[in-house]
Amino acid sequence: MSTVVILGGGYGGLTVVHELLDRVPSDVRIVLVDRNPFGALKTEFYALAAGTSSEVDIRVSFPSHPQLDIVYGEVLSVSFEDRTVQIADRDPLPFDSLVIALGCTDNYHGIPGASEYSTGVQTLSATRRTYQLLNDTKPYGQINIVGGGLSGVEVASELRESRPDLNIRILDRSSLMSAFPGKLQKFVASWFQEHDVELRSQIHITKLEEGVIYNGSEEIPSDVTVWTAGIQPVELVQKMSFPKDKQGRLIVNEWHELPDVRNVFVIGDCSSQPFSPSGQLAQAQGHQVAQVIAARWNNKEISLPRIRLKGTLGSLGKKSGFGLMGSTPIMGRIPRMLKSGVLWKSRRHFG
Ligand SMILES: Cc1cc2nc3c(=O)[nH]c(=O)nc-3n(C[C@H](O)[C@H](O)[C@H](O)COP(=O)(O)OP(=O)(O)OC[C@H]3O[C@@H](n4cnc5c(N)ncnc54)[C@H](O)[C@@H]3O)c2cc1C
Repeated sequence: MSTVVILGGGYGGLTVVHELLDRVPSDVRIVLVDRNPFGALKTEFYALAAGTSSEVDIRVSFPSHPQLDIVYGEVLSVSFEDRTVQIADRDPLPFDSLVIALGCTDNYHGIPGASEYSTGVQTLSATRRTYQLLNDTKPYGQINIVGGGLSGVEVASELRESRPDLNIRILDRSSLMSAFPGKLQKFVASWFQEHDVELRSQIHITKLEEGVIYNGSEEIPSDVTVWTAGIQPVELVQKMSFPKDKQGRLIVNEWHELPDVRNVFVIGDCSSQPFSPSGQLAQAQGHQVAQVIAARWNNKEISLPRIRLKGTLGSLGKKSGFGLMGSTPIMGRIPRMLKSGVLWKSRRHFG
């Protein structure tokens, strides 16, 4: 009996599980490990944080299959020498093949007080806490969202629709949506202007304390600070000593495999790719890794085509949005509808 262990039941890990279950031989056992008893569509965490979606709307059930075991627990480490995974309060879990798909965590860039005095949207439990803090804020309280990239924009706009009374401000060290073309930046900035969300750029945060963000010597008052200013792979990956890129993501070969450890694959936000991390990328890698594992079950090697992504979509509340299809910007109701369609498809694919 050979065992394939998949760490993380998010976009990447669940794709691998579903695709392997379609073709698993009778002498293979598949084990999925996650800290939660269900998958959660992270791309919707902004709506959960704002209070415009409930958690059941973004959960997906893990599949059920006679050759699939699901282990609920906190993954602590991986021992590559004896090929086992260490999970809190359990015996080590042996593997023949391993897929690391544990996603990412906030990157605080070493700013003192940032992890203690801000809240985030990178894990389900952090997002639940963010929901509680944002929705417990007194009327007309001040919310600061640090980071004006895709996640920050989605949290700010959704929160505006959820809580019209709050004062919402986005702080960015350069400018809003700086990775996107100028036309999209202007569209998003004018949406925020119309909806009374303050934008501040060129902010250099030096410290956070209870109720205060320091921009050098300037004190910016804050009832709740939401951190959306960068990500890095989960701590377990941070501690691994294999070669990594500048973002701390593990370098993989053409089969998404650690170059020096046969049959250990790394996908999604933990793996180094020539793209920004995304659910779409994690799914594409998951699809390819399932093909590689299935081929190796039959003692075959396959070559994989280059991954091509379809574009990026973002929401501005429930009625507007923006997107980039190749290099073409799209704005308004259509990208918002496309984003809802992608969510519907993901639910159907995983559910
Ligand atoms: C607000 C927001 C909006 C986004 N919007 C988009 C978008 O529109 N389009 C897009 O493509 N991408 C979007 N993304 C990015 C996308 O969500 C991620 O890139 C994607 O989820 C990465 O997939 P993954 O499989 O690597 O990790 P995840 O989907 O995060 O899955 C990781 C899994 O591992 C589990 N896990 C982690 N650590 C442990 C541990 N130690 N022990 C046990 N289990 C553990 C988690 O519970 C989780 O189930 C967005 C992200 C955010 C935060």
